[in-house]
Amino acid sequence: MRTEVADQTPHEQVVRCHDATTGLVGFIAVHSTALGPALGGTRFYPYASEADALGDALRLSRAMSYKNALAGLDHGGGKAVIIGDPSLDKTEDLLRAYGRHVEALGGRYVTAADAGTSVADMDLVAGTSRWVTGRSPEYGGCGDSSLLTAYGLFQGMRAAAEVRWGEPTLAGRTVGVCGVGKVGTHLVGHLIGDGATVVVTDIDAGAVARVLTAHPGVTAVADAAALVRATLDVYAPCALGGALDDDTAAALTAAVVCGAANNQLAHPAVARALAARGILYAPDFVVNAGGVIQVADELTGFSMRRARAKAARIFATTRDVLLTAARTGVLPVTAAEALAESRMAAGPWATTLFPGLAAGPRVSAQPQVPLP
Ligand code: NAD
Repeated sequence: MRTEVADQTPHEQVVRCHDATTGLVGFIAVHSTALGPALGGTRFYPYASEADALGDALRLSRAMSYKNALAGLDHGGGKAVIIGDPSLDKTEDLLRAYGRHVEALGGRYVTAADAGTSVADMDLVAGTSRWVTGRSPEYGGCGDSSLLTAYGLFQGMRAAAEVRWGEPTLAGRTVGVCGVGKVGTHLVGHLIGDGATVVVTDIDAGAVARVLTAHPGVTAVADAAALVRATLDVYAPCALGGALDDDTAAALTAAVVCGAANNQLAHPAVARALAARGILYAPDFVVNAGGVIQVADELTGFSMRRARAKAARIFATTRDVLLTAARTGVLPVTAAEALAESRMAAGPWATTLFPGLAAGPRVSAQPQVPLP
């Protein structure tokens, strides 16, 4: 939990959303539209203060700029936060009121689901705004984005395996998955299919039981601390942010960390602590972009085949980032940020930086808005 607005990076626009009738209080942060309309989810969370909520929106929207740029999307970064307990405070009227704020931005910000909001919520927000994606298939949407998040994560993990061990496979490796919710469960399926040994943990015993039933070869340990200390080749944090702290970095047995959770590093120095122990960290915003690729594709008329092909490129991007970091002696996070910044500076469809994109269809049916 943040206690102050610490992220002072320049954002293009920040909007406070308020609706007295429904109790809506939140923020929409547009970090950048350099590559196109800002795209990022709406988080519904019981922040302790407006300052905490604003700080989170600023930090998360900046991260979306980097994630979207590295994913090869013609989208800038944005994020919205709504203050409240989603199980108590999230009402249809509140979501519709929120949609009116999204609509007022005229397409500079496109929203989607995030922690505390769902695909069904996006259907409601779409009642008052055109700038919503990640909707349910009944409304022509792409549905649950965890499918391609897990697929892209698996591709990133294969790339990390190649950089670390010379082969782009997890076959014969032991992978620890912390959190077998939507993404973690799909990831386990990919790993088993690839021939990995999988160990899982989750605070939800039912989630663990479902995975063990589906995959009898998988084993479980009591909690995240036990998983971190288990003998692993790869550790995959797929639960909450902040999973990698100083204690975790010191205790990990794995040689590779590659997971879906956003903002895995409890603080930036953990990346250096991991590197100092020879642990290869595949940055979260590089490897977990499959979900935003999936929801971005919906804006052009969703094609799972096309979206999956774009998510497959996470393999090449992760490999580029990790090899560049090794070659230039910087942290993978630093190499990833530099690559994202170069793409943002170059503008949309910079095929010189992303030659692989030249082979794909140039899709221009996204909502077009005049940029300032
Ligand atoms: P989810 O809520 O479906 O699953 C999270 C799982 O983690 C749950 O089963 C929960 O019980 C478990 N968990 C929570 N705290 C835990 C703990 N301390 N130890 C062990 N398990 C714990 O969420 P998800 O959609 O699978 O997303 C997982 C992570 O990936 C989140 O951090 C999310 O922000 C991130 N992410 C998700 C997507 C997506 O498309 N769903 C995209 C990008 C990033």
